[in-house]
Amino acid sequence: MRDKTPIREQVARRTPAAARRVKPLTLGDLATSGASEIEVECEWCRHAARLAVADLAARAGADAAYRNVVRRLRCSVCGWDRVEAWPVRGRHKESRDAPERRRPSGLPPLDECRRFLAALPAAPGATLAERRAARIDALRQRWPELTASAAMFVVQSAETAR
Ligand SMILES: [Zn+2]
Repeated sequence: MRDKTPIREQVARRTPAAARRVKPLTLGDLATSGASEIEVECEWCRHAARLAVADLAARAGADAAYRNVVRRLRCSVCGWDRVEAWPVRGRHKESRDAPERRRPSGLPPLDECRRFLAALPAAPGATLAERRAARIDALRQRWPELTASAAMFVVQSAETAR
């Protein structure tokens, strides 16, 4: 006779414990651990800044997951929405101690991308969507390292900058 207790029930019974184990680090946890600030750096233009954990917690709540808060940050200089972040523990630590700082982004300089776009010939008669698609293609042919979302970001930011 086969055991009718399916594996998935056992898995379901395990899930709550597993969920507790992977409970993400919250802003409150960070503050408790002695991190009063986080150091953030734009993955694209490498603009760096420090944000007070207390300010972030005031906006997002102390229960907010640190990684989700970081995911929602946007560069105040170039507008790119991917930033790297490190908790800063202790006030005496200077930001340059962070080991990963000032790594090259692997992405072409934004101003170069924008100049490239500005130099593209106009496409009379094309719809906005067609024009965007053509500009994204042109960017990615010139810089294959650009992801589709990165190229889209350059195109849209060039539109709003005009
Ligand atoms: Zn930036």
